[in-house]
Amino acid sequence: MESLLEIEPLNNWFEGINYPLIIAGPCSAETEEQVLSTAKSLAKTKQVSVLRAGIWKPRSRPGNFEGAGEEGLKWLNRVKNETGLKVAIEVATPAHVELALKNNIDMVWIGARTTANPFSVEQLAAALKSTNIPVLVKNPVTPDIELWIGAIERFNKVGITKLAAIHRGFFPYERSRLRNIPKWELAIDLKSRLPKLPLISDPSHIAGKRELVQEIAQHAIDLSYDGLMVEVHPNPPTALSDSRQQLDFKEFEHMLNSLNFHKLATGDSNFTDQLETIRNQIDSIDQQILELLGNRMRLIEKIGEYKRDKNVTIIQLRRWEKILESRIECGQKLGLSEEYIKSLLRLVHKESIKRQAEILRGKPDTNGE
Ligand code: PEP
Ligand code: MN
Repeated sequence: MESLLEIEPLNNWFEGINYPLIIAGPCSAETEEQVLSTAKSLAKTKQVSVLRAGIWKPRSRPGNFEGAGEEGLKWLNRVKNETGLKVAIEVATPAHVELALKNNIDMVWIGARTTANPFSVEQLAAALKSTNIPVLVKNPVTPDIELWIGAIERFNKVGITKLAAIHRGFFPYERSRLRNIPKWELAIDLKSRLPKLPLISDPSHIAGKRELVQEIAQHAIDLSYDGLMVEVHPNPPTALSDSRQQLDFKEFEHMLNSLNFHKLATGDSNFTDQLETIRNQIDSIDQQILELLGNRMRLIEKIGEYKRDKNVTIIQLRRWEKILESRIECGQKLGLSEEYIKSLLRLVHKESIKRQAEILRGKPDTNGE
């Protein structure tokens, strides 16, 4: 169905580029000193090819640090001259593109909030037409694969062939362990639909906490992603944006040394075989089921506390009968048997009652039931 023009393999993007492509740097360019010291440390690793730094920051709420703006572009030029690293920034408007080109920025990425807007993407594509600098398209904030592919197509349609996708996860409405839900199955789906398109992981925005960045990066490598974009800051707790998820140099270096690039090293260019692809999709769905069961249990506990305070009994038969009835009806529409839904729900219900009983008694259940 998709008809992309020729996509240039990563290795041809520019001379000396490393595979897998490692892009690293601060969430935001804050000062000249911060950008330069970051770049110098990153250049020493020999694995990082590109420094990232946000110059204009899309903030969800007004009043936060909105980026250094045009002045920051000069700092990035110093990075190029003094370290040899390439430099990448986010662009969200044609004016950003114009300034980026004027200041010799090597690569641009499209942020998650921008990818979600086809009007903006169309304008950016027009502004980038006939430039030939690589364009990296982050997934949109919502898990809409057509919107993601649509944005990639819009850039490709104007002749941009140095293109890649960046997987940064999807906004979760429910509280979850990670800042953004990876939905690996969706990224895998993108890769199977556009096999030639390089896929880069952004473990920082998926994790949201520095302790979890390596785990996500490793998972991406195990799935044969073509690169990583990681947020690194000289002193993360003082960072003006995304301070919880940025790594300091030591942490970043440690991560690079600990990551196991085994699969990529074998030169396995086939993404994954069919069976593995499906298994990866199942793993991702199981992870989401567990997260949802965890969220459900937190609500059960809240009700338990309410019942304890108001002195209400735990089991309310009418409610349970209604749950069973509605879930069976819903499950059957999804091709699941009545027996399957019943036994699954009984198990969930039993565990909920047990947890509420503990809350009512004010101690953990020792019954083993
Ligand atoms: C970023 O890369 O710092 C950023 C703002 O990312 P995203 O568009 O993925 O939220
Ligand atoms: Mn960020």
